[in-house]
Amino acid sequence: MKADLHCHSNVSDGLLPPAEVAHRAADRGVELWSLTDHDEVAGLAEARAVAEARGVRFLDGAEISISWREDASFHVVGLGIAPGHPALVAGLRAIRDGRDDRARRIGAELEKVGIHGAYAGAARYAEKSSLISRAHFARFLVEKKISTDVKSVFDHYLAKGKPGYVPHEWAALEDALRWISDAGGLAVLAHPLRYRVGRDALRVFLGEFKDRGGQGIEVACGAHTPEEVHECARLARHFGLKASVASDFHGPGESYADLGMTPPLPDDLAPVWHDLI
Ligand code: AMP
Ligand code: MN
Ligand code: MN
Ligand code: MN
Repeated sequence: MKADLHCHSNVSDGLLPPAEVAHRAADRGVELWSLTDHDEVAGLAEARAVAEARGVRFLDGAEISISWREDASFHVVGLGIAPGHPALVAGLRAIRDGRDDRARRIGAELEKVGIHGAYAGAARYAEKSSLISRAHFARFLVEKKISTDVKSVFDHYLAKGKPGYVPHEWAALEDALRWISDAGGLAVLAHPLRYRVGRDALRVFLGEFKDRGGQGIEVACGAHTPEEVHECARLARHFGLKASVASDFHGPGESYADLGMTPPLPDDLAPVWHDLI
């Protein structure tokens, strides 16, 4: 089964509309697919319609932004959720609502280092989206030739400790896990080795995640090196979590991995979709 259970459309910070992401997944041989826009479910109906017309099995998904302890943040993917579940819909709306104020503050911080008009510029990139993300700022800074690519914008301007970074309060872990389980889905920790926390803190987080009902962890990640995939597999075994497969595709030329371009899952791990299809 060729699965890809994490990617984005222009409903959040991807480049392509949901239908185009669905066609691309089908064209690239994905057999089990989920669209997991940040903090939003608005693209799922369109994605499902095209996926099913193309014979691709589809799981409704979303990638939820979490704040944890003093200043850490994590992303939890809900898979197999009922997109209209009231608590989920209200919770995601609350997260999205905080984003515009944060974006204005990011724009103000960038003004201080001489980058003008970044809020308006990012908002233009987010015109078709339900929310504004740092990825939209990154595209504007690349357009202005302030950095050569999206990754280096993060390294120099948008990551924690950099001039345009603004701390933000996302959802609490227990709330996000409750929305996902109330909506009938499974919670999966996204890209485990892409957080700015040490390995000890990651393990403490994973212990809490598992205790509070988290069920899966991304192991075969497009953004991970082969050694990192092995490390995620060890975390899956240690914490008794099911394994997921994730390109985290955002758009042609912008992401580490295209749809379906993921490393193989180690044979001994239970795939997260066994309970979902
Ligand atoms: P936000 O949800 O607004 O904090 O933005 C996070 C998004 O920015 C992620 O979902 C990625 O799309 C993008 N992003 C974060 N870090 C990086 C990075 N180092 N390189 C490229 N894109 C990144
Ligand atoms: Mn993103
Ligand atoms: Mn993420
Ligand atoms: Mn993602």
